[in-house]
Amino acid sequence: MIHIIEVAICPVCTRSSIGGATHPGCRNKYTLDGLTSIFRYSGGIQRAIKHLKYRRMTDVISSLVNLTIAQLQNEKERYRYFYTFIQNEKPPIIPIPLHWWRERGRWFNQSELIGQEIAERLQLEFKPDILIRPKFKTPQAGLTRKDRLTNIKGSFTINSNEKLRMTSAILLVDDVWTTGATLREAANILKRAGVKRVWGFTVAR
Ligand SMILES: [Zn+2]
Repeated sequence: MIHIIEVAICPVCTRSSIGGATHPGCRNKYTLDGLTSIFRYSGGIQRAIKHLKYRRMTDVISSLVNLTIAQLQNEKERYRYFYTFIQNEKPPIIPIPLHWWRERGRWFNQSELIGQEIAERLQLEFKPDILIRPKFKTPQAGLTRKDRLTNIKGSFTINSNEKLRMTSAILLVDDVWTTGATLREAANILKRAGVKRVWGFTVAR
């Protein structure tokens, strides 16, 4: 079973919000401007995404993206704020990068593959090399493995400010929205680097 998300949420407080736009009262200079998530993270969608995390399955990615794009096109009214954002801003897509420690067990980033295909379908630029996760944020010595992972969590940096110079808006793409901490942190970093508008997009939530 595949379930469409009926009620969009504000990416800051996660309460319901029309079209996924951030509530005016939740907004500040560094918050996401809105969030669009298409499917509930359950059933077939959850299975497909879990498979993706451990295996490169390009046919699964194509199916997921096909379903996602079909839903976007079938219900344009539901996603009107999202369409307004991409039509007005023509934002490049930036995928959420993997943690360095996850890259060791896996050799690809499903958000990057999903983001790339969505970019092609929506005819947006794809910029996977701007947002990165540096290997070491603070000295790791002396920390347990668990503390190390916590310490690294959410630590993004901008790879090249030069590449961001001409970019006023970004569509940030991830496979799943869970707590939202990752997308909020990425938006924060991008806005501090001068990006004016950032919208989040996930296949599932
Ligand atoms: Zn809110």
